[in-house]
Amino acid sequence: MSEIAQRLAELERMGLARRLRLVSGPQGPTVLLDGKPVLLLCSNNYLGLADHPRVREAAAEAAMRWGVGAGASRLVCGTMTIHRRLEERLAEFERSEACLLFGSGYLANIGVIGALAGAGDTVFSDELNHASIVDGCRLSRAEVVVYRHRDVEHLEWSLRKQSRGAGLVVTDSVFSMDGDVAPLAELAEVAHAYGARMMVDEAHATGNLGPGGRGAVAEAGLEGEVDVVVGTLGKALGSYGAYACASAEIVRYLLNTARSLIFSTAPSPPAVAGALAALGLLQERPHRVQRLRSNARVLRRALAAEGFPVADSELQIVPLIVGEPQAAMRLCQATIERGVFAQAIRPPTVAPGSSRLRLTAMASHTHSELELAATVFANAARELGLEPEAMAPALPERVAAPEPVVADMDFGVDYWPEAPFDVEREGELPEVTVAQVPTQAMAVVDFEDLELEREQEAGREEVGYQEEAAAASPNAPFDIERELSRARAA
Ligand code: PMP
Repeated sequence: MSEIAQRLAELERMGLARRLRLVSGPQGPTVLLDGKPVLLLCSNNYLGLADHPRVREAAAEAAMRWGVGAGASRLVCGTMTIHRRLEERLAEFERSEACLLFGSGYLANIGVIGALAGAGDTVFSDELNHASIVDGCRLSRAEVVVYRHRDVEHLEWSLRKQSRGAGLVVTDSVFSMDGDVAPLAELAEVAHAYGARMMVDEAHATGNLGPGGRGAVAEAGLEGEVDVVVGTLGKALGSYGAYACASAEIVRYLLNTARSLIFSTAPSPPAVAGALAALGLLQERPHRVQRLRSNARVLRRALAAEGFPVADSELQIVPLIVGEPQAAMRLCQATIERGVFAQAIRPPTVAPGSSRLRLTAMASHTHSELELAATVFANAARELGLEPEAMAPALPERVAAPEPVVADMDFGVDYWPEAPFDVEREGELPEVTVAQVPTQAMAVVDFEDLELEREQEAGREEVGYQEEAAAASPNAPFDIERELSRARAA
């Protein structure tokens, strides 16, 4: 057996092996998953813009006008007029002086952290920050201090103790796997008090929080007070790519030093045009944000009514914490069989012992779809012997109240330099015995009914994007003949 085969077998044994599931069609509220119709409840297409006809059409038109590939790095010959236009629009949206596009949120985070911190500096990072931040910290070669989740006192204590070089405090604003929010105002105050810069990753806040869905930084009234705001185009903005908003000076510095920007091809024109169209839709029709928020509340309340320990809020990410990876996978499979898809999330994405289904509401779901999904989760869980009431509560309830600061607190030698979840550490996971998976046949959700209901509701509600699309574009979303004749005429 090769070493790779052994490692794969080990991942299988620990319940941590991954495989790709095949989705046919766009990221709509329902999809064909490996050929089976399911309600999609784990996509980050929060505002339903990835599959919006105006966004699709903008991307198609951009492909005809600018081509598909940007051809080179931004700094070589990859910066096109459309990149500049989106940067201007995003800077306006984020109320910042300047903006710089990156290939993805992952690339933006590793690029920005590496540019703002290096050997001899210190990065202060929330323990539940996204893996791209963790990797950015590692690549930067700075000293990394991991502070307890959302714990401002721990951050302050760390800043006081650790004062090597320039300091950078970095946090997700909405945490990707728990759907809770960082205390940004307090974090910024502490960072500034100690002369540290602050960087906020708004990947899951854009489109849900803040006035007009402008994010948690805007909601906290911190515009202009955070040194770098990173956002992604791949979630609420329905496309692919990312951006960093900052002062003109910092943006110029990033342009000169962020390696993931310098050494990587510029975002593709169709993706940039799609994001521009999505941003336009978000600004023209902010009720989509309201719809996402009310859908999140409906989903949360329906789950709570089924007994799941889910907090009443309007945040669209809802974790159902199962515990061991095998159990989370069984629950995922059981709900797919009943017609609802929410992928199980396991280590190293989340901490050992906290494997979960990560549910996400989208603005394009109907209330009845979300209510039905909650019943499906409860039925599937009970059938597997998992009582919803007995599941671990989601954050922030799970977080103990911050302990009083003790000057000589000892967090153990390993704690400081390490990122929270480390794939190398997964080998130390205790062995888990796989319980017998009960086989059952339960009524599968009737998707024809669901689809009909969705259409009826969409007709009534403001989202109604079919009409919107028809008004914007009387033609088919993308007609190659029409595009070719336009291009020839141009
Ligand atoms: N930051 C956070 C908080 C994320 O959740 C993600 C993606 N899951 C990223 C950054 C990376 O963004 P992208 O998918 O655009 O690479």
